[in-house]
Amino acid sequence: MAHRGIMSVTQGVPASDGAGVTLTRLIGSPELDMLDPFLMLDSFQTDDPEDYVAGFPAHPHRGFQTVTYLLAGKMRHEDNAGHSGVIETGGIQWMTAGRGIVHSEMPEQEDGLLWGFQLWVNLPAACKMIPPRYQEFPAAMIPQERRANDTTVRVITGITGHGTEGPVRDVATSPKYLDVAMPVGSEFEEPVEDGHNGFVFVAEGEIEISGTVIPAHHLAILGPGDHIRAHSGKGPARFLLIAGRPLGEPVHRAGPFVMATREDLLSAFHDFRTGGI
Ligand code: MN
Repeated sequence: MAHRGIMSVTQGVPASDGAGVTLTRLIGSPELDMLDPFLMLDSFQTDDPEDYVAGFPAHPHRGFQTVTYLLAGKMRHEDNAGHSGVIETGGIQWMTAGRGIVHSEMPEQEDGLLWGFQLWVNLPAACKMIPPRYQEFPAAMIPQERRANDTTVRVITGITGHGTEGPVRDVATSPKYLDVAMPVGSEFEEPVEDGHNGFVFVAEGEIEISGTVIPAHHLAILGPGDHIRAHSGKGPARFLLIAGRPLGEPVHRAGPFVMATREDLLSAFHDFRTGGI
C-alpha cells in the first residue's frame, strides 16, 4: 500500500462567471490550468444574494461533463431540449453535455446561503459528440457510509474501500467523488486508484495528509500512490475527495466548449452560432 502525499496546495483565484456570480476558481486558473481529466473546479459559498442572484443565463456546452454539487441552497436548470429541474441541498447533477446543450443555471432563492461546487470533467475524444445525458440525484438518494470512528462519507460516484457505491454510474473517466465529514481527532483511509489524478478540497476545518496541513478552502493535489490517509485535528473537518482516470489527450478549450482538436473547437462555435447546438 502506497500512501499518497501532497504535490501542491492552492487557494484558487477570485472569479466572476455567468451574469456576475462571485466564485473561487480552483482548477482552470492561471495557477492550475487543469488536472486531467478535471478541467475546472469552481467553489461558491456566500449568503449575500448580490453574489449569486444573477445566476448563469442561457449558455452552451459541448465536449465534456458539468457536475454540480450543492451543500446548501437551490439551483434551477433548464435546457433547450426541455429538460429541467431543481438541485437542492445535498443534491448532485452529473450532466454529460456531449454533442451539446444550451442551458441556464439560476438560483431558486433570493436570500440565504448558496454553497456548492461545479466541476468540469473531460470526455474522451471518441465520446465528445455523444447525446447529452443527465444523472441527477437528491440528497436522499446519495448513500452515506458511517465508519467506526463516526466519520461519514457521502458517495456520489465510485466505490469506497468499504464497498459503498455512489448512484452516478458509467462515467468514462471512472471517477471517485466523496464528501467526507470527520469528527475531531480522527483518521480516514481510502483507496484512490493508482494512476488516477486526484485532489482534496477542504470545505470546513482542516485536515493533514502525509504531513501536509490543508487549511479550509484550499485544494491539495495528491501525489502518486493507491491510498490516502487523512487526519482531522482539534476541530471537525469536511472535505471533498475527487479522483479520475487521466485521458492524456490534447485539450482545445474556449469558454463553454472543450474539444480535442482546434477544428472541432471552431466547429462548436460555428454550430452554436448557426443553431446546431
Ligand atoms: Mn453550464
